[in-house]
Amino acid sequence: MRRAFWRGRRVLVTAGPTREHLDPVRYLSNESSGAMGWALAEAARDAGARVTLVAGPTGRPAPRGVRTISVVSARDMLAAARRAARRVDVIIGAAAVADWRPARTARAKLKKGRAAPFLRLVPNPDVLATLARAARPGVRRAGFALETGRLIAHAREKMRQKNLDLIVANSPSSLGGARTRAYLLTPDGGARAFSGTKRALARLILTTLEERRD
Ligand code: C5P
Repeated sequence: MRRAFWRGRRVLVTAGPTREHLDPVRYLSNESSGAMGWALAEAARDAGARVTLVAGPTGRPAPRGVRTISVVSARDMLAAARRAARRVDVIIGAAAVADWRPARTARAKLKKGRAAPFLRLVPNPDVLATLARAARPGVRRAGFALETGRLIAHAREKMRQKNLDLIVANSPSSLGGARTRAYLLTPDGGARAFSGTKRALARLILTTLEERRD
């Protein structure tokens, strides 16, 4: 990584899961641990960048020297990330944003009745796609694709749809652990296989973004 490139750059990272509440105590969520987002925020910080981390609930302490904004739902994450994205140079979406939320959130705890409640879900906004669409030219954008089949083809399609410079494709086995296997795909057709720690992957992601030609 070239420190000269990263020194003073403003980097936004989204991380962790989101929670979509049914009522004050129940929610829909996923297995994301936040490890990849934390690794990215720390790698960018160590390279000299000014980093903002917008993170769903992970239980992890905020990384030292990183402005960390805690959020709960996808809509909270979008609002916080939008504000933070106004003046950034690099946007990395590492959050596992819940795709759907309950159509309504009850104010009081749902009571056990005779019939189980019918749960109607509505789609959540796509945080990364929204930020990438609104970004000024020159802002570097990266995201992840977690797939159980046709990994590369689906990831490439997401890179195009979400308007990204880099997509990191991996499978659910990457969730939680310190190590991961992934492919780094770029719009020019580039594909690079990676296997190692999330820390090392974070550095490779930053190097790949740094190499992008404007
Ligand atoms: O579409 P899919 O969920 O597979 O896309 C994954 C990528 O998009 C990740 O980088 C994730 O952070 C981002 N994303 C998002 N908001 C969503 C869904 C995904 O930012 N609602």
